[in-house]
Amino acid sequence: MRQDDRFELYDLRVEVVAGERQMVCNHREGDYFELRGENLSFPAGQSFPLYPLAALLPLLPAKQRRTHPNDWMTSDAEIACPDPHCGARFRITRTGISAFRHSEVTRVPLAACGESRVSAESGEAPA
Ligand SMILES: [Zn+2]
Repeated sequence: MRQDDRFELYDLRVEVVAGERQMVCNHREGDYFELRGENLSFPAGQSFPLYPLAALLPLLPAKQRRTHPNDWMTSDAEIACPDPHCGARFRITRTGISAFRHSEVTRVPLAACGESRVSAESGEAPA
């Protein structure tokens, strides 16, 4: 019998929303990209500036995962453009849930993960 190795991640949409100040970078209100698993997708013909993308990337894997209701990562969804003169905001929305299989996204066996999971729960460093 095949071990059930499924897990779920939220699908995300990141959309440019207008802030209180004028935008400076090459983004327009309504521009967006989507993230499903590890794959970003952009609408055909739409570009997205490098620096805001670089600022957004570290947050996206956390937003893909279930977070505690009291965690700011759960409640906060708008990120400011890293250009201090630009008024753009980027709204991160959880648009759906996709299922993946551990065996299809890594070569590390689940048993090896289980050992570190037990160590994490007990608060002890892995041996
Ligand atoms: Zn900007």
